[in-house]
Amino acid sequence: MRKLEYKTKYNHWMPKILKVGGITLLNTVYFSGVRANVSARLVAHEEIHIKQINTDGYLKFYWTYLLDYLKLRVSGLGHNQAYRSIPYEKEAYGKTNHL
Ligand SMILES: [Zn+2]
Repeated sequence: MRKLEYKTKYNHWMPKILKVGGITLLNTVYFSGVRANVSARLVAHEEIHIKQINTDGYLKFYWTYLLDYLKLRVSGLGHNQAYRSIPYEKEAYGKTNHL
């Protein structure tokens, strides 16, 4: 399998503002922690989003992600439950649960 190409930024304001450990935007993964404090599980999680973006393309990924989240919120779920129920997140959590 081809190695994934992506950039990483540590100790970044963007995930900190969003109160998340990491966020993947286009080909860059932004982590709130410094490199030594970022877990292998979180790195693997964000790498799955990189793979999803490579497979589906940016437009489909972000559009579907946002729409799925909004649909889940409209259906009555709170933020955390809606976030964890987004199919892209379910795949990422499902594949990293063992780590
Ligand atoms: Zn995620």
